[in-house]
Amino acid sequence: MLAYRFLNPKDFKKPRSFCPKCKSYIKWYDLIPLISWFLLKGNCRSCKNKISYLYPFIEVITAVSLYTLYKNVSIPYFIPYFIFFSALIVTIRTDLEEMLISRYMTLFLIPIAFSFNLVHYLPLTFEETLTGTIFGFLFLLFISKIFKLFTKKEGLGQGDIELLAFIGAFTGIKGCWISLLFGSILGSVFGILLITFKKSNFSTKIPFGPFLAIGAMVYVLYQYQIINLIFGF
Ligand SMILES: [Zn+2]
Repeated sequence: MLAYRFLNPKDFKKPRSFCPKCKSYIKWYDLIPLISWFLLKGNCRSCKNKISYLYPFIEVITAVSLYTLYKNVSIPYFIPYFIFFSALIVTIRTDLEEMLISRYMTLFLIPIAFSFNLVHYLPLTFEETLTGTIFGFLFLLFISKIFKLFTKKEGLGQGDIELLAFIGAFTGIKGCWISLLFGSILGSVFGILLITFKKSNFSTKIPFGPFLAIGAMVYVLYQYQIINLIFGF
């Protein structure tokens, strides 16, 4: 809902959920996550237009990731990571739908990481949060400049750069690296699948943000296992 409203600011202050196509308000019994979508067979009750697959997709990601988060991290860290995950999920949706990453979900939330850090609600030192933020920003800025120099095209958006800075604030430099690693692998696999199934060609733009965001979530959930795996030998 938040993601849709970021993309459609004129609808931002609507009091309740509504259908984006016919603008009719949605009854409470049609707002049950997943179940309603299946019961309505993916169509709006009043105008019968298709409801985007993004709704059930985001509902599944939200439920699975937040439940796993609750299971995997100790209680003081749950609240900051809950905010972190929620913002990442909004980014996944806005970037998939419109190739847009809202600053309200990245750059403007970085101070939250610093605040939680000061009261020891993040498993990072202050320096790790600081260097993670700076590294995240500068690294992708550098990559985007290099890409532009060689291809004369815009490969990464400002949104991606700010997203990695946000990820760095909550996970440090290590988190940035792992998110980039997973993000690139996931993105490549997805790109190859799209080309294989002839849905796109090499010049089609694929948003990088969702893969980076999923990489960051995987890192937070399994950071000790991942670090052991990579640095443990
Ligand atoms: Zn409708």
